[in-house]
Amino acid sequence: MDRIAIFPGSFDPITRGHEDVITRAIPLFDKIIVSVGKNRDKKHYFSIDERVGFLKTVFAKYPKIEVDTYEGLTVDYCRKVGAKYILRGLRTSADFEFERSIGQVNRKLYPEIETIFFLTHPEYTALNSSVVRDILSHGGDASMFIPEGLRLK
Ligand code: ADP
Repeated sequence: MDRIAIFPGSFDPITRGHEDVITRAIPLFDKIIVSVGKNRDKKHYFSIDERVGFLKTVFAKYPKIEVDTYEGLTVDYCRKVGAKYILRGLRTSADFEFERSIGQVNRKLYPEIETIFFLTHPEYTALNSSVVRDILSHGGDASMFIPEGLRLK
């Protein structure tokens, strides 16, 4: 049976931190679906199509990685695509507290699901998508924080 994992997120936009965690997970799974959650309540900087496009560009060279989108509960999406593992990154203790409750609730909703956490590379601990958005919105150069070679827009 294939080991299928999903890495859910907003990826608004993808950063080197996301890229690092996702590529480190490749040897552990047969397939990793990087999936953009559609959240109507959140205001986004990049459209869903743009965010998906960036992910497809970054992960094009990895045959085990697919890019997708989903709406609704993450566990329902996992059932639909046959994923038994949810991957997330941990930067700080605040991430841990946030992820702990989501992970525990997800397991109540779908007892076969395991959430697997990857510790962030120290270099990327301070990095998040909102830092990148801030730099971009002020006309700065964010290239050192986004995957190498990726052009936003
Ligand atoms: P969400 O809106 O679900 O937080 P994000 O796209 O911001 O979506 O993050 C998705 C996942 O990526 C989360 O598990 C988050 O902890 C992880 N992540 C975000 N930034 C980094 C980083 N710099 N290093 C490692 N993991 C990260």
